[in-house]
Amino acid sequence: MANLLENISSKVSAIVELAKTLGNSELMLEISELQMRLADLKIEHAALKDENRELKAEPEEWKINPLRWNGSFYMDTNNHPFCPRCYDANKKRIRLPYSTSIFLVCPECLRKFDTRGEPHV
Ligand SMILES: [Zn+2]
Repeated sequence: MANLLENISSKVSAIVELAKTLGNSELMLEISELQMRLADLKIEHAALKDENRELKAEPEEWKINPLRWNGSFYMDTNNHPFCPRCYDANKKRIRLPYSTSIFLVCPECLRKFDTRGEPHV
């Protein structure tokens, strides 16, 4: 995307030079507007890149307390189960609350799992 923006920027600069030689003021005005919008696009692109980098970074707590698969659930270092569906689909760490029933219910996706981690429909 950055290369594409630079490519467009250099093409616009070439068009500006061409418009100058033609001496068409209306064309120059349109190109100036195009340059301003391109500058806005570059700023927005940079902001989105920063946001994307932040969203992809794992929280420090996750590095200290990684999840492992035990064959039924993802477990943290305290052997607490996490919803396999939410983790597999969205990398969300949703702790399954302890329950007195034989099913564990995910508070996020509301799926029920038996103690072997099998989904219960
Ligand atoms: Zn879930």
